[in-house]
Amino acid sequence: MKPERKTYPVRIWQQVDIEEIRSHLMLIDDLYGMCASCKQLGLNYLKDKTCPKCGNEFRYIASSLKSPADTAKLLARIESEKLPFTLIDREDYDRATSRDAISGLFQRPE
Ligand SMILES: [Zn+2]
Repeated sequence: MKPERKTYPVRIWQQVDIEEIRSHLMLIDDLYGMCASCKQLGLNYLKDKTCPKCGNEFRYIASSLKSPADTAKLLARIESEKLPFTLIDREDYDRATSRDAISGLFQRPE
C-alpha cells in the first residue's frame, strides 16, 4: 500500500488569460459567493458547481481572506471535499482586471 502523501499550501504563479478565468470564477467573501461573470450573488462554493443564472461552470475561486491560515483552511476544505477548484489570489485578479479596464480606455476606436 502506498503511504499517504502530505499536502501543503503552495502558491503557483502563472501567466493567465484573465477573461478565461473570469468566465469560470466564483468570488467568495466570508459566507457567500458571487459569479465573477454575471455578478449573481448568494452562491455556495461547497454546492454550486455552475452559476444558476448564467450557467458558467466554476473552476476557480478567489477569496478576500487575508490571513494565510484562513487561506490554508479553505484549501484544506477544497481538498477534503474533493472540489474541482483552483484557488486564485483575489488581489492578483483585481489587479489584472483593473489593468485590463485601464488599457481599455486607451484603445483606439475601431
Ligand atoms: Zn453567472
